[in-house]
Amino acid sequence: MKNVTPGMLTDQGICPTCYNRAHNYCLTGDETDKTLFENTLFKCILVHEPRADGHAIIVSQAHYKDMMDIPDELCREVFLFAKKAMNAIRQVYNAESVYLCTMCDGPMNHFHVQLIPRYNFERRGSRNFIKERKPYLDDRAKIDALRAMLA
Ligand SMILES: [Zn+2]
Repeated sequence: MKNVTPGMLTDQGICPTCYNRAHNYCLTGDETDKTLFENTLFKCILVHEPRADGHAIIVSQAHYKDMMDIPDELCREVFLFAKKAMNAIRQVYNAESVYLCTMCDGPMNHFHVQLIPRYNFERRGSRNFIKERKPYLDDRAKIDALRAMLA
């Protein structure tokens, strides 16, 4: 498929996350450099087009459409890890705080938790969930620090 977009896949009943993994990360590019942590249940990666510096997601390895469908063990592990990751991101990126939200866009949604930093120059509130996306900044020192804290 040429010039495939996540929206096109979803409309065809295909999960973009599963498709991306099965097709050599054709939608996002290789995620290795952005991966902060990975185990058999989930992985944590910096977002390809972040809404803030340090915007990360925790995404399940297996496909579940949203949090209501995930097994309890995955839920427990993801949210315990999320707490750790939020504190690490806050510290490494010098954010004021970090929001957590999760999507529920239907069967082609792939369960993930978004961790979106808010900085002291930004307003509080739910508009932080939809901050404008910006280019990914490859900051190796910050990534190395996060990896060490999340290992
Ligand atoms: Zn999926």
